[in-house]
Amino acid sequence: MAAPSMERVVSLCKRRGFIFANSEIYGGIASTWDYGPLGVELKNNVMRAWWSSVVYERDDMEGLDAAILMNRLVWRYSGHEATFSDPLVDCRECKSRQRADHLKDGKCPNCGSSNLTEPRNFNLMFKTTVGPVESEENVAYLRPETAQGIFANFANVQQAMRRKLPFGVAQIGKAFRNEITPGNFTFRTREFEQMEIEYFCKPPKYLQPGEKNDVKLHEEWVEQRFNWYVALGIAPERLRKRAQTPEELAHYAKATVDIEYLFPGSLSWSELEGVANRQDYDLTAHSKEVSDEDLARLRLQKNADSTTKLDYFDDQYVDPETGKKGARYIPYVIEPSAGATRATLAFLCEAYNEELVGEPKEEELAPLRSGLAAARKNIDKKIAEAEKAAAKGELKADMPTVAQLRAINEALASCEAELPQSLLAVEDACDLPGADRVELLKKVRQAAAKLCDEYTRVVLKLHPRLAPIKVAVFPLKKNEPRIVEMAKRIKRDLQPAVRVVYDDSAGIGKLYRRQDEIGTPFCVTVDFQSLEDDTVTVRDRDSMLQERVAISQLESYLTQRLK
Ligand code: ATP
Repeated sequence: MAAPSMERVVSLCKRRGFIFANSEIYGGIASTWDYGPLGVELKNNVMRAWWSSVVYERDDMEGLDAAILMNRLVWRYSGHEATFSDPLVDCRECKSRQRADHLKDGKCPNCGSSNLTEPRNFNLMFKTTVGPVESEENVAYLRPETAQGIFANFANVQQAMRRKLPFGVAQIGKAFRNEITPGNFTFRTREFEQMEIEYFCKPPKYLQPGEKNDVKLHEEWVEQRFNWYVALGIAPERLRKRAQTPEELAHYAKATVDIEYLFPGSLSWSELEGVANRQDYDLTAHSKEVSDEDLARLRLQKNADSTTKLDYFDDQYVDPETGKKGARYIPYVIEPSAGATRATLAFLCEAYNEELVGEPKEEELAPLRSGLAAARKNIDKKIAEAEKAAAKGELKADMPTVAQLRAINEALASCEAELPQSLLAVEDACDLPGADRVELLKKVRQAAAKLCDEYTRVVLKLHPRLAPIKVAVFPLKKNEPRIVEMAKRIKRDLQPAVRVVYDDSAGIGKLYRRQDEIGTPFCVTVDFQSLEDDTVTVRDRDSMLQERVAISQLESYLTQRLK
């Protein structure tokens, strides 16, 4: 199970300190978010897991951290100045602005009208000026992708690290796009973080027997990147590879496979990462002294400003005709380009679970059952009234419509039929449009909330490597100094090895629920027995089972299970 809706994830993120709206005290700024105390840990863990997988666990990769501001010429020759734009249309009906490629059957996705303007281009790069004078010569851009920093450093990295093809460069960093239709929480924002790889390899012509070609390497990267998400907890049935169609492909790309995740709600299947085979396009675009033939093949303009030809000397190559050793050429590149903030959102959606953790007795359910029955009867009455009013043309604008009332009643009926499993769905039914006008639903909501508190839990089943807090330590009794002292000491001793917190601000049951909600894999409780035999209970977040572990073994027990 994953999050039933994006709203649930947004609400948890705010409530528990993962993600806050930016500059909220001044009313915020559209689609801009801050990562709170738990969010920054989670996002850092996502980026660390990526770096470990693509840099440390391979022998053919280097890391890089290039600056956000770059010489404007980078963006001229990369093509971004001329073409990094979204064609936009304005809807004359609802006045909204939409991406031309987001129209639904040629109609405005907001209001359904086809009264639209012709598409116009809008450049997505944020412009700024460098230095004290605001003039055209001093224009710079906030990078819209991190990749160009890698291309510009290709020769530096290759030479400094004495790399032979194939090898890759990985980079994580901020990117900025003046998106026209941002939204869906952190899915599409104007400031975001990318995790990008440029994997340089030999063009087919220069391959030695047995070496993998660009097509094979591209396939391998798609597999490895897909498997990374799965290894960190995304269910394979909510992850798919989608090859871009020939119409979608950029003219220089041989193939691009998007890795998509099934997000909750309207986002549905959406891109997490694109893995592209870009051939020799990028390094050629930034090179001086490129042949006219190559320029024509790649549809590039001559680069009159670059000081360097970004080529590679291959000393193993033997010309099959002349037998001459060595060749100079511009490498091909495979680009797995992922969003760190977008992946973080996917991991949150995937980890979010609501569970029933006990069976309420029939008499405990009784107030909710009778509340539901009364509310449904009341809504039936309102439906009849609304139908009458509509027939006479006297329906008031602030009255819920017949359709809304019917939808609420249907939702309530299915909740009633499926209690107690449906406990958490009762609140959703009470949040449907028009429900705020049904007085009796307040009682229903209260009765459900009381039962939810007792019999359900929200749990983030994050992979232990991603969990913001790895272990929480509680004293069973906070007014028993020996227990408190022991718990605090355990916290201090574990701290250098794992991220651990101490909490004594509520009863154990509540403390467990709070840690479940933020995805903490283990809770350690110090009790009276601990004072006698130096053992503690360790509770597992997912199974909720408890085990007694000797304090002397605790660190190795936990680190083993946190891998
Ligand atoms: P889209 O079609 O969703 O706008 P794109 O195809 O333009 O994305 P790329 O240029 O391929 O995206 O960027 C690579 C990755 O960077 C994307 O797969 C995504 O994870 C991330 N990304 C791109 N734009 C944004 C954004 N505005 N907010 C958050 N992440 C983004």
